[in-house]
Amino acid sequence: MADRTAAWICRTCANQYPPTPQPPDRCRICEDDRQYVPASGQEWTTLAELAAEGTRTSWREVEPGLHELVVTPSLGIGHRGLLVDTPAGGVLWDPPGYLDDGAVAFVQQRGGLLGIARSHPHLCGVLAEWSARFPDAQGAGAPMWVPRRDARWVLRPGAAVREVEDVLELAPGVTLVRCGGHFAGSAVLHVAAAAGGRGALLVGDTLMVLPGGRRVSFMRSYPMLLPLPERYLDRLLTALDPLAYDRLHGAWTGSDVPADARQVVADSAALYRRWLTGAAADPDQD
Ligand SMILES: [Zn+2]
Ligand SMILES: [Zn+2]
Repeated sequence: MADRTAAWICRTCANQYPPTPQPPDRCRICEDDRQYVPASGQEWTTLAELAAEGTRTSWREVEPGLHELVVTPSLGIGHRGLLVDTPAGGVLWDPPGYLDDGAVAFVQQRGGLLGIARSHPHLCGVLAEWSARFPDAQGAGAPMWVPRRDARWVLRPGAAVREVEDVLELAPGVTLVRCGGHFAGSAVLHVAAAAGGRGALLVGDTLMVLPGGRRVSFMRSYPMLLPLPERYLDRLLTALDPLAYDRLHGAWTGSDVPADARQVVADSAALYRRWLTGAAADPDQD
């Protein structure tokens, strides 16, 4: 077989691995009990192959100072990246599994990249590729902030990885907060100036924004439908409690809670807890 050295991308989860002559044997993200390998088997691709297939990136303003980056046709689970403007450059959240020169130019036009953060290991996409496209004066890539408790899930380690404890302000008013739950290092990004100054959280699936924009959920696995234990939920809610926010932006286009998000989270957690614990429920009546 010819040498096809490339940084291979899993077609199911859109995560990218370090360059190797042949695709990896397995995707450890997809083989984890929170994910799955398709019945048709593991499939790999590369940026070059995706480009040849006509894949492209587009962007759209979600609210002032916040843009989404979307890959078409959909790749992996089709999540969006979110770019938060700051005076020091953009913070890219949950990069998708593809990037092209157009997307890089768009970020450059908005002031370059301060760094990249992610909600959890499922939504890293081509994170290291973004980092490499924005080198600093020393030639190191843009910082990739990763909660220490997810360090073992960093698929492409390197000098640009910055391990974070529980809370780190990445730029004034833009703060990475580890919540745990879905993964031990699951996090949200708090943007104080968003929602007209009332604050917003970028949540990935640390909180899953549900259809209707008035509910969220909290799961160990969404595709495998594994619930989150109550003490994990408590830990997550404790991490969110100090944050001022009125809006949530989830992992997909349109998955937003536009207003009253603190109340939405509180009501959703109460409903979830009621069914998780079975309190006040009767299997012969409900
Ligand atoms: Zn995978
Ligand atoms: Zn996930």
